[in-house]
Amino acid sequence: MKIDMAYGSGGRQTSDLIHEVFLKNFDNKILCKMEDAAVLQVNPKIAYTTDSFVVTPMFFKGGDIGKVAVCGTVNDLLVMGAMPKYLTAGFIIEEGVEIDTIDRIAKSMSLAAKEAKVRIVAGDTKVIEGKGGVYINTSGIGEIRRAGVSISNCRLGDVILLSGNLGEHHASIMSHRMGIENSIQSDCAPLRSIVKNLMENNIKIHCMRDVTRGGLATVLSEAAASSSCAIEIYEKSLPISDQVRGFCDILGLDPLYMANEGKLIAAVPKDQAGKALALMRRSKYGENAQVIGKIKEGSGVTMITSLNGSRIIDILYGEGLPRIC
Ligand code: MG
Repeated sequence: MKIDMAYGSGGRQTSDLIHEVFLKNFDNKILCKMEDAAVLQVNPKIAYTTDSFVVTPMFFKGGDIGKVAVCGTVNDLLVMGAMPKYLTAGFIIEEGVEIDTIDRIAKSMSLAAKEAKVRIVAGDTKVIEGKGGVYINTSGIGEIRRAGVSISNCRLGDVILLSGNLGEHHASIMSHRMGIENSIQSDCAPLRSIVKNLMENNIKIHCMRDVTRGGLATVLSEAAASSSCAIEIYEKSLPISDQVRGFCDILGLDPLYMANEGKLIAAVPKDQAGKALALMRRSKYGENAQVIGKIKEGSGVTMITSLNGSRIIDILYGEGLPRIC
């Protein structure tokens, strides 16, 4: 069965879609009340964010638009020192999409939400004319567990950790679009375990950011500018799988500018760097974590290359890869 305009009518078919797809997959007490708004119990200080997802193709190795829609918003909350609690999900569906496809996406969102320990408590569906695309907006609320974690709070002497390999989401999406056969999987994942372990073990995290569109180069440049400091990274320490490295070599891509959906950077005091690295590596999705650099006086981002040269790293200019998330 395909979605047609009647599924966006607000009538019978909309109700069927909500019950047979969304309530079935997102099943929880708050959502199932079907009120006009979810009523939530939260701690006084919350982090609140929203993001829209338009990735194409909708399904790819390692994930799909639903998984990205949950993980993207969850990770934005986590890197603010917040534990994600509630999500909303808004779907804009173009005519012609199979209901089974929506069900598959919703199932994937449900799995990711379970892993991230969030509940999807409100939602919306609209149907528009088109060619079978699906677009999802998620917003999320997380309870602040650690105040002051901020892109503007990197401090002199801090060490920068990266939670794992670069470029996998980007390479996976690009492979699909170009019809290149390989086994590169998107790294799309909720980073709850990494953040929880760092916070519960009293690591004094000054700054965290998930490394998404624009890649590591862009995130580091933003951190250096916001914190009025310089960042030095070491090419030798950057974790990149052989497969992604090969992929980049063939296509002339720079892993520093490639998108990820399950990686973060953290700036922590130098004397806690070893402990923080060990904690990351013990956490789910953190096994390839590395210390990649440090905060210095000055401005901008510099990379010490494998040949011991020095390269200035700027933010991404122009379009990286459209509809990557
Ligand atoms: Mg982010």
